[in-house]
Amino acid sequence: MNVADSEVVMGIMHSQGYRITRQVSQADVILVNTCSVRENAEQRIFGRLGHYRRYKHQNPGIVIGILGCMAERLRSKLMEEESVVDVVVGPDEYRKLPGLVESAAKGTRGIAVKLSRVENYDDIVPLRTEGICAWISVMRGCDKFCTFCVVPFTRGRERSRSVANAVREVGELSARGFKEVTLLGQNVNSYHDGEHDFADLLASVAGVDQSVRVRFTTSHPQDMSDKLIETIARYDNICNYIHLPVQSGSDRILGLMNRTYSSEHYRNLVKRIKSTVQNVSLSTDIIAGFPTETEDDHRMTLNLLEEIRYDGAFMFKYSPRENTPAFEMGNSIPDEVKVRRLNEIIELQQRISRENNQALVGRNVEVLIEGESKKSKEAWTGRTDTNKVVVFPRENTEVGDYVRVKVSSATSATLFGEPTNVLAGRPSGTTERAAIVFPDSAQSVQDRIDR
Ligand code: SAM
Ligand code: SF4
Repeated sequence: MNVADSEVVMGIMHSQGYRITRQVSQADVILVNTCSVRENAEQRIFGRLGHYRRYKHQNPGIVIGILGCMAERLRSKLMEEESVVDVVVGPDEYRKLPGLVESAAKGTRGIAVKLSRVENYDDIVPLRTEGICAWISVMRGCDKFCTFCVVPFTRGRERSRSVANAVREVGELSARGFKEVTLLGQNVNSYHDGEHDFADLLASVAGVDQSVRVRFTTSHPQDMSDKLIETIARYDNICNYIHLPVQSGSDRILGLMNRTYSSEHYRNLVKRIKSTVQNVSLSTDIIAGFPTETEDDHRMTLNLLEEIRYDGAFMFKYSPRENTPAFEMGNSIPDEVKVRRLNEIIELQQRISRENNQALVGRNVEVLIEGESKKSKEAWTGRTDTNKVVVFPRENTEVGDYVRVKVSSATSATLFGEPTNVLAGRPSGTTERAAIVFPDSAQSVQDRIDR
């Protein structure tokens, strides 16, 4: 979501004559897009501001801006306590950025953090700088109010872009050679543009260009309709991959989280998805150590992971966020207990991911080539439609090709293989089930805990 927002910001600044540099030392304006979901994301930004203070010291004319959720949440604190910050701009006020930056360059610091009920940045052309995969924000905000979450407070109420606009954007991306789009929203299942629901949007986007893969995230288990599940099944270029955060396997904890579904509802939903979408791959989000979580509650989460056998998961230690209802419940689970439970969850999920991946050795998967492998210039990396990273020798293939790869080995994070043939430029929908690997999944357990 923040990558997509940063591209909107770059689009706005670029249209006003600014150029983008990846060298901080060359920048006249440094804009930091922030996340408030967990405390250590915010701590990292404070650390980074210390670093930028050096550049400001060398060149006092530099303008430094804090954007996004932290700007919204900590507005006056940032202005009052961080003299290095010139501009503070919340997620719905990016149109004001050029004006605020200009004033700051003349010495007047500025703040704009009002939340909007309508802002969608529909007419802004995001500046996408690399790759063949694009993020497309189709809705903003969230109305769910899970008790642990700051998003409804930092990003405001739900609002959707129109189908027509999203379809136009996908058409333009396809014409520019993009091969994959991911439709984004905090809860895409509640997308509605007044006329069309998310299944309609997905079908329309999938119809734009058969050679463009369509992904979406995030789905909320309460709002996932049968119509949506059937739509995913119907289109070859809609990826057979659903990120379906469960958060906990305990009904008592789900109630305290205000997730509005029971574990039974979730299990039944998964059954419907698996019986409708062939070879579907599922991933989830888990929070360990929510207030009052008992060993029994924790065991129910482990049991659910064993039962569903997700291909991947984002796993987090509960982070108390001020002004959320869960904050009032106290932070009752000691940190060492949270860490131990999180470790147990991560270790179990890694074993399941590895087993799911190793079951693919000897089989063929269809991969969209995205670029050079980080470890070798001679190898490509790409993903299956099940969002699985695959690394294989380049041979006579190019970025943007769909290639069939025979899997020769697998870790919990990556499939390795040999290309067998290049496919005719479009997803065939025949990708076999693969475990998902997230970009950070090779990190150590401690890294993940820190996140
Ligand atoms: N809207 C999406 C949903 O409901 O699944 C996810 C958005 S949230 C930014 C991403 C994930 O961060 C959540 O699914 C949850 O697991 C985690 N998260 C949110 N608030 C958290 C908190 N206070 N502590 C730990 N993890 C949190
Ligand atoms: Fe946060 Fe819940 Fe909304 Fe997701 S659905 S953004 S976890 S409030």
